[in-house]
Amino acid sequence: MKAKEQNSALRVLYLEDSKLDVELLRTILEEAYQLDFTSVDNQQAFEKALLNKKSLDIILSDYSLPGFDAPAALTIAQKYCPDIPFICISGTIGEEKAVELLKQGAVDYILKDRMARLTSSIDRAMNEAEEKRILAEAQEALKKQNKELRIAKQKAEESDHLKSVFLSNMSHEVRTPMNGIVGFSELLIRSDDPIKQAKYVRTIQNSCEQLMHIINSIVDISLIEANQVHVSKTEVELEHIFNYVNSILQEDFERKSIHLKQLEIPENCCELTTDASKLTQILTNLISNGLKFTSQGFVEYGVRRQNGTLHFHVRDTGIGIPEEKHPIIFERFRQVEEGNTRKYGGSGLGLSIAKSFVEALEGQIWLQSKPGEGSTFFFSIPV
Ligand code: ADP
Repeated sequence: MKAKEQNSALRVLYLEDSKLDVELLRTILEEAYQLDFTSVDNQQAFEKALLNKKSLDIILSDYSLPGFDAPAALTIAQKYCPDIPFICISGTIGEEKAVELLKQGAVDYILKDRMARLTSSIDRAMNEAEEKRILAEAQEALKKQNKELRIAKQKAEESDHLKSVFLSNMSHEVRTPMNGIVGFSELLIRSDDPIKQAKYVRTIQNSCEQLMHIINSIVDISLIEANQVHVSKTEVELEHIFNYVNSILQEDFERKSIHLKQLEIPENCCELTTDASKLTQILTNLISNGLKFTSQGFVEYGVRRQNGTLHFHVRDTGIGIPEEKHPIIFERFRQVEEGNTRKYGGSGLGLSIAKSFVEALEGQIWLQSKPGEGSTFFFSIPV
């Protein structure tokens, strides 16, 4: 028999008010199964047994009991444990009632004078219940798989869309300085005026720097994607790094009439061992973003030391960033508004490079920002 083969007891709940019938059934079942047997003889005890003993294998029930019957018992069983098979065992009740009970969900109906059929009926019911359980599990797994596939598809579509936006941004970003170089080179060739020539050369130089910046960003992001970011730490003076950052950004700030404020470096931050070029690039990316998204006011940056960690901040008085965009703007190609490239320029790579470099230095990066109230980017690196 199934339960005996499995070496586990068959858990039976029997609803029957005749003690003799209970004993008879128990004896029949004991011959076939290892048995965990409970019998009850009224509605209250039946409900209580279902509540207390939810892990049942099968429910057997007489048809008529005082003030209670099998259809009512089946309704209760379906409420508490819908997956447990229910078999009615009774004297003759007439075909109509038997069919009604089967329609309602009972798995079988056995006459008390045909009990020889009982064990095969139980085995079949148990097999069917097991098959149903396996099917339900498979359907559940399929649902989960479908959900995962849908998410993966969404991600792939999103990433595809982001790449298209990136490519369109890039062609714009590359074409702008290239047009500058080509156009002003032609003007330079044709011009005899040394003042104009100097102006054209400066514009060509600026365009070259912009192009260089884009190429560097692409190289950086490729190295990041290929897990090829190498950290090379040396002893550095923070003042040298800050001075260098100020010198490369000063002209851009002057051009936009925005004040670049560098806070004084506290004495305990002056020297550190780090990757100077990565730290320089993190600061440059954050400060130039501050400048790009600020039309009035200032960009301020500084550092303080706390418990062996250097805490940097870059604050601006620019357009700010809505809170719901905070978690995504460090992802590559992401921009708060895709259309903003036309207005502000950019590839959507700066913050993602900054984050990867901060993490390569074992630090963290985060921000506080609200639209219209400016942004402050923070990053910390252990020293
Ligand atoms: P981008 O080249 O577009 O500036 P980033 O990765 O540097 O790429 O920044 C991603 C996006 O985050 C920007 O396009 C912009 O929408 C937002 N952002 C970054 N820094 C600031 C800032 N200081 N103020 C407002 N928005 C910012």
